[in-house]
Amino acid sequence: MSAPAASTLETSSADFAAKAAVARRAAETWRRTTVAQRVTTLRALWKALAAKREEIRAVVHEETGKPLIEVDLMELGAAGLLVDWMTAAAPRVLGEKAASKPWSLFNKRAYERRVPRGVIGLITPWNMPFLIPFGDAFAAMLAGNAVLLKPSEWTTKTALWLEKAVAATSLLPTGLLTVIPGRGPAGEAVIDASDMTVFTGSTKTGRAVAVRAAGQLKPVILELGGKHPMIVLADASLERAAAAAVWAGFSNAGQVCVGVERVFVEGEAYERFIELVRPRVAALRQKCDGRDADIGRLVFPPLLDRIQEQLEDARKKGARVIGGEVLDRAGLLMAPALVLDARMDMKVMTEECFGPVLPIMKISRAEEAVALANAGAEGLAASVWTTDLVKGEKLAAALEVGLVGVNEPSSHYAYGSLPFGGMKQSGLGRRHGEEGLLAFTQSQSIVVHEWPDDSADLWWFPYSDRKAGFLRRLMGLP
Ligand code: NDP
Repeated sequence: MSAPAASTLETSSADFAAKAAVARRAAETWRRTTVAQRVTTLRALWKALAAKREEIRAVVHEETGKPLIEVDLMELGAAGLLVDWMTAAAPRVLGEKAASKPWSLFNKRAYERRVPRGVIGLITPWNMPFLIPFGDAFAAMLAGNAVLLKPSEWTTKTALWLEKAVAATSLLPTGLLTVIPGRGPAGEAVIDASDMTVFTGSTKTGRAVAVRAAGQLKPVILELGGKHPMIVLADASLERAAAAAVWAGFSNAGQVCVGVERVFVEGEAYERFIELVRPRVAALRQKCDGRDADIGRLVFPPLLDRIQEQLEDARKKGARVIGGEVLDRAGLLMAPALVLDARMDMKVMTEECFGPVLPIMKISRAEEAVALANAGAEGLAASVWTTDLVKGEKLAAALEVGLVGVNEPSSHYAYGSLPFGGMKQSGLGRRHGEEGLLAFTQSQSIVVHEWPDDSADLWWFPYSDRKAGFLRRLMGLP
């Protein structure tokens, strides 16, 4: 198979300045539209894009090698669900809200309105090259902003396809969604030219993004790496848990920030769980032509060596590693790997893997796994598996993560209504949900004095003891 190649496109500083200026002008026009107008326009936009499904499938598959069914479900299907929730919720979430008032201010009217931030910078990764840029751009535009999008150099074509397809609809002001191809310096330019940045990627780069934005007092949303611990209790439905571990560990070839990265299984269920997982992994069909395949290739070349090093480390420390062979180095194809009898001193249990590897470790009690999970720096996603839902939800609440499932691995992204993001080193802020939409705006609080229109308020000058006594009584003070 031919080696995937990174885009060599770079945006020169002159081009960047021109593009950023067009995006700024588009933001000025767009912010004057009403929420209702934006809902109608953006629904039409989604309809026009979804009609080009075959083109999206082709470009995403070409850049990532993922099975076409995963493009349909994870990139397009999930995007459609986000569009549905966001456009239904926007009038309520982004509309003006009357403020409740103390009775002493009864002659005034107060309300809150949401003001678009202006230009939103998106710095996006290669693992979900359509869903992440589209979903965040859609929310930002729905909230009244323009978008400067810096895609990963490994999936630049998908972003350029999106920009072109949006422009072809003529529904939005020119440049409302502008793509800035390039590498790190292009990302930095996007931060500098934007009013807020949303970054998805590694914790290391996320920290650099936050530092740069902080120097300019600009907000950021960061969605960084995770190390999803799947905690399987002895009373769990092991059939469902095994199927979930294999799907959530190997879908998108394991390159999912919320994917299962390690499984902790209570001792009594350990051997049976492995018995159920092994044939499911052996049955995975791995191909890169996109059809009749369960699992494809890696997208980001450095992953191959990083994963092989983690597997070697696990082998040396006594784990049973099944699979994981490099099948085609240039083509970034490796067989899915199971790491049995994993232990916490193995890199595969503590470092983000982001590939088709499923380590499984025996634990004595679920509480032990919760403590091990909480001891790590990551806090993105986790799951608990048990037929005792009361216990499951109690354990879920004890996990220091932003996203948690009970008998459920990783469907959170598809709920537009649920805030999505991590705790601790896994992120700052949230996308999705009311919180995610509101983040693309600032509040403006307005108080209107209604009557009487010709006299001063009681608490203004001049002060007197009599006035103070009256106001104290009015405000309920002793
Ligand atoms: P990075 O976090 O390094 O990069 C993500 C994006 O940020 C890319 O578009 C990158 O551009 C850009 N960038 C790099 N440096 C800067 C900077 N100083 N300022 C602004 N933007 C910058 O991720 P990688 O793609 O290199 O992948 C590395 C690892 O990150 C993976 O192995 C995986 O562990 C993790 N990852 C996590 C994801 C998640 O969903 N949380 C998604 C993808 C990766 P460029 O690509 O040109 O360097």
